[in-house]
Amino acid sequence: MPSSPLTVAVLVVAAGRGSRFGGPLPKQYRLLNGQPVLRHTLAAFATHPAIQKVCTVIHPDDHALYAQAADGLNLMDPVHGGAERQDSVRLGLESLESYNPDLVLIHDGARPYISRALIDRSLAAFSDSAVAGVVPGIPLSDTLKRVNGTTVLETVSRDGLWRAQTPQAFRFPAILQAHRACIGDTLTDDAAVAEKAGLSVHIIAGDDQNEKITLPGDLKNKPWHHTASYEPHVGSGFDVHAFCPGDAVTLCGISIPHSARLSGHSDADVALHALTDALYGAIGAGDIGLHFPPSDQQWKGCNSKVFLDHAATLVQASGGYIAHVDLTIICEAPKVGPHRQAMTAFLCTALGLESSRVSVKATTTEKLGFCGRSEGIAAQATVTVLRA
Ligand code: MG
Repeated sequence: MPSSPLTVAVLVVAAGRGSRFGGPLPKQYRLLNGQPVLRHTLAAFATHPAIQKVCTVIHPDDHALYAQAADGLNLMDPVHGGAERQDSVRLGLESLESYNPDLVLIHDGARPYISRALIDRSLAAFSDSAVAGVVPGIPLSDTLKRVNGTTVLETVSRDGLWRAQTPQAFRFPAILQAHRACIGDTLTDDAAVAEKAGLSVHIIAGDDQNEKITLPGDLKNKPWHHTASYEPHVGSGFDVHAFCPGDAVTLCGISIPHSARLSGHSDADVALHALTDALYGAIGAGDIGLHFPPSDQQWKGCNSKVFLDHAATLVQASGGYIAHVDLTIICEAPKVGPHRQAMTAFLCTALGLESSRVSVKATTTEKLGFCGRSEGIAAQATVTVLRA
């Protein structure tokens, strides 16, 4: 008779203050690709089909930050951590006792690049009933030196030495007992707790990309490794506004002197309207006219950033985040080129994106059609939203 699948809980440890990282905001709440680091981490586990429960250990001061990072994800209520990481893990494990899963994966909140493949490898190792714990690791490749001050004393063999990563996975009752048995000891990871308790801990191939964010530079220039747990949704938007007498147009939040203005109920920022509709489109949330009806006087003359912010908030609430936006403004005049940088900067700030994820382009219609006759300006936008 086939055995029933093991029940799996995940404990994400996110109570640290990140003193090496610096700054007032703990690193697990800093933005990575427009979302808190911790959200990437949580989404990877919360969307994994073999995982039933995800619990986060947080600092008591971080409830508001956590609520934002966890918004829309299927998670247990967070629990408060203790003075040291080891205390935080133990308190987290205690909170899972009533659920009593077969396995628990314990993971650092500041390792957002966790891949589904690594989670799968960890779980698969437990098909061997003798395995009590599994640690992903990377064999050391650099030569090791023992040093006193600045003096090299000797070269140390790296044979058999591995760097341990997380998630570290354990049979739940055993790791809970092991943690209870070593209160007050200083052990640097959960595998060390298990080893001390005499549990059989095995190493599996880790993942070079599964790095821990430690320093501010770690937040930059990272490729998009964790897309396995997200599904891309592409939204498109299109809008047109006609010219009327005036002396400036607003495009992408930037006022540009011109021989006419754009007519519209709001500030007629045709570029932001197309982009806003693309965001609504990516999450199936209707269109700008649905959320901000032109019949409603409160939106008269309104700054269109209000619309963009609303759409971006809905994307976040849906469990998604914006991976890329591409906007094309279609007109003979004014010239967009001189303002492209300011427009890009506006969108980067408004959407919390790096400049490599924001594209503002312009084209004419070779004097053909309504744009060619300078009767108005059109804009179209494509956005990619990754949804958990
Ligand atoms: Mg419009």
